[in-house]
Amino acid sequence: MTDAVHTPRVFSGIKPSGGLTLGNYLGAIKRFVDMQGEMETIYCVVDMHAITVWQDPADLKHATRELAAAYLAAGIDPTRSTLFNQSQVAAHAELGWIFNCVARVGWMNRMTQFKDKAGKNREKVSLGLYAYPSLMAADILIYHATHVPVGEDQKQHVELTRDIAAKFNTDYGVPDFFPQPEPIIEGPATRVMNLRDGTKKMSKSGESDMERINMTDDADTIAKKIRKARTDPDPLPDTVKGLDDRPEARNLVEIYAALSDSTPDAVLGEFAGAQFGQFKPKLADLAVAKLEPISTRMADLMQDPAEIDRILTMGADKARAIADPILDRTYDIVGFVRPRQI
Ligand code: ATP
Ligand code: MG
Repeated sequence: MTDAVHTPRVFSGIKPSGGLTLGNYLGAIKRFVDMQGEMETIYCVVDMHAITVWQDPADLKHATRELAAAYLAAGIDPTRSTLFNQSQVAAHAELGWIFNCVARVGWMNRMTQFKDKAGKNREKVSLGLYAYPSLMAADILIYHATHVPVGEDQKQHVELTRDIAAKFNTDYGVPDFFPQPEPIIEGPATRVMNLRDGTKKMSKSGESDMERINMTDDADTIAKKIRKARTDPDPLPDTVKGLDDRPEARNLVEIYAALSDSTPDAVLGEFAGAQFGQFKPKLADLAVAKLEPISTRMADLMQDPAEIDRILTMGADKARAIADPILDRTYDIVGFVRPRQI
């Protein structure tokens, strides 16, 4: 039904909350690049989400431009995709407020990311961290986006977005006004794990630098982190089933598969019986070969921040042209008086 009413359109975003990781690259950016040309694509640097936890203002500006540089260096073409930072398009925050009034507190209480991020500190975290998923719903729905490529950890938030869309449509009697966006969670690396603990996700805001590979790490650092990655003493199995209960081994095999555009089955076909002492250097070489050209290009782009800002401004103009009419219609549906816009 969604497809009949709404033009296929991709939206996704990444927070400029620190250096980007291999998880962000494989679970998000690389897949964003692959979706260009398949349908209309809108990619965002979600700076308003970043401040749900404290960000030093100068660091936030740097991380915003660096994330934009990563998108560009990895192959996002700003003439084919709309690329911008969220805070330049006020409609996200405006629709986010309406969704705060549509979403229920009980729904937010079920969000596992909030529980993970707040931990024992529940009473002290920002209200923004709690309300984050309704702003994320607004990010997607302000464009009437139908497809949302994300890592596995964001599935629950996209499902919540669907619930918010459905409740808005029902409450206001506007069937199909907001689409039911599909989370697109595909490929061998939808959840890249922490190199020191294979039961935890690799995150840019994780505690130790040794637990993640950063997109800007040099070849020696990447090799060292992979060499020191936690593993078990057994050789690699010959089937994917043999990776059950071996989270660290599974993670390294999945990373290899994603970096080589292959599958875990094919990787095990090549490496069955190998010890990690043999497999890890191959993985390190592969990771360096794939990441180094991107980090070199990122560094080049960062030499000219004004050019990055120009691209983000151009993207924000394109984004506003889609978002503002949808916000006007939403305000009218809600009953806000806006004589000038309607
Ligand atoms: P933070 O720790 O600040 O939450 P993050 O590394 O989780 O940072 P986000 O900006 O929250 O990054 O997420 C951006 C995108 O990257 C999302 O689509 C998310 O699902 C994806 N992603 C994040 N970490 C991983 C991972 N380890 N494996 C696969 N995808 C990931
Ligand atoms: Mg995250």
